Amino acid sequence: MKEEKFQPKGKTIQELSEFLKTLGEPAFRGMQIFQGLYKHKYRTWEEFTNLPKPLRAKLSEYIELADLPVGFHMVSEDGTQKFTFKLEGGKEVEAVWIPRGDGARKTICISSQVGCTLNCSFCATAKLPFQGNLKTWQILDQVLSVERIVGDHATNIVFMGMGEPLHNYFEVMRAATILHHPEAWNLGAKRITISTAGVVPGIHRYIDNKEPFNFAISLNQPDPNTRSEIMDVNEKFGLDKLIEAAERFVRELGRTITFEYVMIPGVNMSDKHIQLLGKIARKVGNCKFNVIPLNTEFFGWTRPSDTMIEDFVTKLKSASRVPVMNRRSPGKEIGGACGMLALSGTNNS
Ligand code: SAH
Repeated sequence: MKEEKFQPKGKTIQELSEFLKTLGEPAFRGMQIFQGLYKHKYRTWEEFTNLPKPLRAKLSEYIELADLPVGFHMVSEDGTQKFTFKLEGGKEVEAVWIPRGDGARKTICISSQVGCTLNCSFCATAKLPFQGNLKTWQILDQVLSVERIVGDHATNIVFMGMGEPLHNYFEVMRAATILHHPEAWNLGAKRITISTAGVVPGIHRYIDNKEPFNFAISLNQPDPNTRSEIMDVNEKFGLDKLIEAAERFVRELGRTITFEYVMIPGVNMSDKHIQLLGKIARKVGNCKFNVIPLNTEFFGWTRPSDTMIEDFVTKLKSASRVPVMNRRSPGKEIGGACGMLALSGTNNS
């Protein structure tokens, strides 16, 4: 009957209060458990000293507060640390700790799915079989475990690990809401980034719900005729509809949207691509680009040289007149950089 046990992790205060009521407890205990789990980060029921002992005993009978077991843990020279966590049935997911050199920003990159529902040709995660959506608590446990192991707290969370967050909308938004909650991590909404490869209905749902978190679209190819060649999501939701959704985001939420762009020489870095990107930027208005050098070598593709990157960034800045950031993609030698999350310590190309 283990599966039927209530899992307190990943629940809202209201859900916890309702559960506590079924145990004949006052509703405010819900808040105490929420704070214990996510503000004080207790790992055992004994640590919940503000709960009466008999209740703690009852809860420990019902619920085990287990950590996600660590599969492997690798530390890169640049300070990046990659983790795999074991889930039920032999499944595994990855998370990456990415401290910036000056220590001012410490980002945890977390997974939303086991494998991915999509199949982007340049991404190593796409080579794994899709094995399901993560529950809210499994998403949050990645953060708890990484913070515990590195002995530090994240300043930023990005949903840019394995998976397509908008294909696991409910659990991802609930996790982001708990990360943002003042009685939990209390991270600013702008410090939490949700990224999509272009699941257009999910973007509209995001706008309808006025989700407060940072939002990024992995654009990667501005040519409507060839985007499907590298991103299968485009077959279902074409570029026109994607750009319309981005325009709506900016218009209705009044916030900046980020376009991520994996630079692949010979595929999406020509002057023609830069002109198309300029057009998109003008259409969308309040946007910026984060460019990422390709980290994998499928199909004989190679990483752009530093000169190519510089040239691309300069031209894109002048064509788009919006900010272009060359995103540091650390952790390459441990397979922890963008698009390399495929449960191995090395580049899987
Ligand atoms: N599915 C979501 C979340 C994953 S984010 C999304 O696509 O946005 C992972 C980011 O890494 C995306 O911006 C993706 O385009 C980028 N990426 C994937 N493979 C890469 C690679 N081989 N090199 C560099 N970046 C890559």
